[in-house]
Amino acid sequence: MRILEPEDRSGLLVGAFEHLTGARPTVLAHAPGRVNLMGEHTDYNAGLVLPVALPHRTRVAVRAREDGRVTVQSLQRDGGFAGTLADCGPGGPDGWTGYAAGVLWALARAGVPVPGLDLVVDSTVPVGAGLSSSAALECAVGAAVLGLLDRPVRGTDADLLIEAAVAAEREVVGAPTGGMDQSVAVHASAGHALLIDFADDTHRRVPLHLQERGLTLLVTDTRVSHALVDGGYGERRRDCEEAARLLRVPALRGATRTAVDGLQEERLRRRARHVVTEIDRVRESVAALAADDRQALARANADSHASMRDDFEISCPELDAAVDAAVGAGALGARMTGGGLGGSSVAWVRTDRVAEVAQAVDRRFEREEFAAPQHLVATPYGGAGWVRLDG
Ligand code: ADP
Ligand code: MG
Repeated sequence: MRILEPEDRSGLLVGAFEHLTGARPTVLAHAPGRVNLMGEHTDYNAGLVLPVALPHRTRVAVRAREDGRVTVQSLQRDGGFAGTLADCGPGGPDGWTGYAAGVLWALARAGVPVPGLDLVVDSTVPVGAGLSSSAALECAVGAAVLGLLDRPVRGTDADLLIEAAVAAEREVVGAPTGGMDQSVAVHASAGHALLIDFADDTHRRVPLHLQERGLTLLVTDTRVSHALVDGGYGERRRDCEEAARLLRVPALRGATRTAVDGLQEERLRRRARHVVTEIDRVRESVAALAADDRQALARANADSHASMRDDFEISCPELDAAVDAAVGAGALGARMTGGGLGGSSVAWVRTDRVAEVAQAVDRRFEREEFAAPQHLVATPYGGAGWVRLDG
């Protein structure tokens, strides 16, 4: 059984920065990956989501440069970026450096005096696992710039950071992200999920009481890798937009179930049905958590997974197996999480049964001859921030 620990490798990152750039970093910034507990593909439909931030995070060491040059490197990837701020926008660096350079460009566009800098990335968030390593990278880079300028990640600067991270992913990388990942990476708080309403861009903390209730959020990364720049995500978005157009609502949030059931085209009807029922399940989950109603929580998880599998068609055999094996081994509820077409599942598990449930999933994967999965314990942590290393 492989459990991915959220180790703090700040010391290693500082050492690597010195080795790669020949100087000491002055700021260390961080932002978390996330696991969404309910509300998949609802953010871009003006709906509701309920993510938590992971203890697994992306860290960025940074130092300002006098000559206006920008260098970006990652301990996870070969091939960095070296250039100037003027090279960082759309049509600029491609591959992974687009996420980082894109944030610098978007912050500068928003009027932030981004200096030349050296920047090195290190992350414990699994990449392409539906746990949002991309937003963790963007928000850690943005937090690092705010750190160089001595601006805390709060208030209007927090909003500026989210907007820049979303803009980097949409306009520079070209992935049509919905905005949930960047919001939770910035606004998350320890012990809580974040209920975000994309109709009016408001959010509030939802206490989970995991410790008091003896519950653990067990995430299983199926190692089936997805890529949001591939077609599946964009196709789903276009289906949702088309359904909203036919229903004459600005976004599917505004559609009633009756109206959705009246849609002529079967595929669009199923897509829209997922979105409107999933938004209801976010509300039901929040109510179930407040009342510690575990049956209601289990039902919402089961219905959500079925809806993603059958109506939205974003599951895969590995995700179905992970969910089924977890529930079979006594998890209170489980569902796939994230954009789908691979990635991770999340299960609500009694803390004394975590090892048993993880082993049951491993055994199922072995039997089905899937590659071995890895597991993470999703202890809800806080959002992006930075610390100064000098002085
Ligand atoms: P997810 O966000 O679910 O992990 P995405 O496809 O949205 O998956 O983003 C993954 C991409 O983000 C990677 O392919 C890579 O380009 C970039 N990325 C994430 N973390 C890192 C990292 N630590 N170093 C370099 N690139 C990273
Ligand atoms: Mg992503």
